[in-house]
Amino acid sequence: MVYDVHIIGGGLAGTEAAWQLARRGLRVRLSEMRGTGERSPAHQTDALAELVCSNSFRSDDHEKNAVGLLHHEMRLCGSLVMAAAAKAQVPAGTALAVDRDVFSAEVEAALAAQPMLDVVRERVDTLPAAGLTIVATGPLTAAALAQSIGTATGADSLAFFDAIAPIVYHDTIDMDVAWMASRWDKGETKDYINCPMNRDQYVAFREGLLAGEKTVFKEWEANTPYFDGCMPIEVMAERGEDTLRFGPMKPVGLDNPHTATPEHPNGRWAYAVVQLRQDNKLGTLWNMVGFQTKLKHAEQVRLFRTIPGLENAEFARLGGLHRNTFLNSPVLLDRQLRLKSAPHVRFAGQITGCEGYVESAAVGLMAGLMTATELTGGEWTSPPRTTALGALLSHITGDAEADTYQPMNVNFGLFPPLPDVKKKLRKEAYTSRAKADIEPWLAQVAS
Ligand SMILES: Cc1cc2nc3c(=O)[nH]c(=O)nc-3n(C[C@H](O)[C@H](O)[C@H](O)COP(=O)(O)OP(=O)(O)OC[C@H]3O[C@@H](n4cnc5c(N)ncnc54)[C@H](O)[C@@H]3O)c2cc1C
Repeated sequence: MVYDVHIIGGGLAGTEAAWQLARRGLRVRLSEMRGTGERSPAHQTDALAELVCSNSFRSDDHEKNAVGLLHHEMRLCGSLVMAAAAKAQVPAGTALAVDRDVFSAEVEAALAAQPMLDVVRERVDTLPAAGLTIVATGPLTAAALAQSIGTATGADSLAFFDAIAPIVYHDTIDMDVAWMASRWDKGETKDYINCPMNRDQYVAFREGLLAGEKTVFKEWEANTPYFDGCMPIEVMAERGEDTLRFGPMKPVGLDNPHTATPEHPNGRWAYAVVQLRQDNKLGTLWNMVGFQTKLKHAEQVRLFRTIPGLENAEFARLGGLHRNTFLNSPVLLDRQLRLKSAPHVRFAGQITGCEGYVESAAVGLMAGLMTATELTGGEWTSPPRTTALGALLSHITGDAEADTYQPMNVNFGLFPPLPDVKKKLRKEAYTSRAKADIEPWLAQVAS
């Protein structure tokens, strides 16, 4: 068969993209290396859409939860992953959890029933020079293809490990304690939010870092390099009592206006400072500079809430460090997930810098729809950015800060803010706005 599209990778994103294309009558070749005797270190089967770890698609609450809303929008788009999850569902309260074997079998059966789709068990080692292609090879893309992608994108734009600093929702930071300033601020730019610590607070915080329970690297991640710029904060803390105060918690040049006195009208320097930097264009998300960490998530929440100004912080993302192949998408991809330097190639799934099964499948879904539109001569319109699909797509394809780009789950911090709505009603307000706004866009999906 002559194919309209070549999809590389039969995981969450690749199978969803393949489904969206094949059900519209387009001819698809889906290449998957598992089944040839080769597997990534995390995969354990040859099944398509294998869930490599948890069996949960997280919250299914589409009224108060961003990932639940994403489920809802994907269902409206006829998602294969959501349909297979419904058939494989197991009890898990308000979460959507599945029997992983049934789930993969459902995905395989649905794709096998598509006459215009061939699943080919083969490893692809180079980016195709021509022909519409979707690369959905995931966080553990095989080495030769990763190298070929690195050559096409520039090695600096393809990461092999993430180094995730926690991200805080701006409206949960106490600005009566924290303040905006840049180091040696002369008043022109005040780019950072600064959280001050006195000596006792700093010492206790460092002890918390040292004592806190950490996640361990998987065997095949053991060689994770700690580049100077992304050493875990707890490793830095181990190096000496003052290492952090000379590193990411350096207080010098940061006058704290909350301590202003007639003698010191600009305020004094704190003993140590935690700095947060804006992480998205909307200004709703702020990352804790230099705070990449292997501390367990519950431990991070507990310890980081001891930082003055962050006592009530809500986290859009917690810190981590993993093996993870991903592109600097905000720079490399256009708004349709196409490589700017080679627009016949689209990327989908975790390799674009989204994070999670659902997000990966959602980006696969959009890549499938975009490619179908391109092949049928239509004009693509992106989902409104007030929807979960649109917010995620906008973040990946340009709205995230490229300098600090790291894998991201869907969360309400990616949505245009609703400052006039009371905080406790905001989640419902985001989801009702999304549900109203997605309706007109769905007409495009139906065609
Ligand atoms: C160890 C680990 C644990 C994770 N746990 C979770 C979790 O619990 N919950 C969660 O939501 N997310 C988790 N993730 C994150 C992520 O959501 C999943 O990895 C998700 O499967 C990504 O979907 P994807 O389609 O982008 O990639 P994948 O599902 O990994 O699919 C990529 C496919 O491409 C194939 N492939 C790779 N290279 C080639 C090649 N050169 N030629 C042909 N085929 C190729 C692979 O065999 C694979 O089947 C985890 C990730 C890792 C690495």
